[in-house]
Amino acid sequence: MAECKDKKCPVHGDTKVRGITLQGTIVSDKMTNSVVIERKHLVKNSKYERFERRKSHITAHKPPCIDVKVGDKVEIGETRKLSKTKSFVVLRKVGDKK
Ligand SMILES: [Zn+2]
Repeated sequence: MAECKDKKCPVHGDTKVRGITLQGTIVSDKMTNSVVIERKHLVKNSKYERFERRKSHITAHKPPCIDVKVGDKVEIGETRKLSKTKSFVVLRKVGDKK
């Protein structure tokens, strides 16, 4: 595994993960050390008794020691606010295709 000197890394740095953890799919990794994660969820529409599909985008910090790319499913954990848009950090890859 690559050496990691990232202070915002939950494993090697001093960033503590607390609060909620979520799972989502990476839709963009164009930023340095950041990824955009999409979460799909269902919202009940009571008038028509159906579920609406909704999605939300969350920007998360990606430490250099975690190797993920667009399309990967990842688990993210809530941290203190890391930058203007980031308050989550990528913890690990989930659901690796077998
Ligand atoms: Zn690290």
